[in-house]
Amino acid sequence: MVKPFDKCPVCGGELVEKEVEKILRGGVDTAVIKVQAEVCLHCGERLYSEETVSRFEEIRANLR
Ligand SMILES: [Zn+2]
Repeated sequence: MVKPFDKCPVCGGELVEKEVEKILRGGVDTAVIKVQAEVCLHCGERLYSEETVSRFEEIRANLR
């Protein structure tokens, strides 16, 4: 997989790959999923791959 970013686009800080919890809300349902993300060591910005973002969309579409 090609990394979408080398450095944090917000502050230029170093990114590390981590497993993070993402909360998705749709209607009255809430889903919490664990995904891999690039997390900035400096400002905590999370960057998700396109694949992960489309997974969010899929899950969100099933929430009501
Ligand atoms: Zn940053």
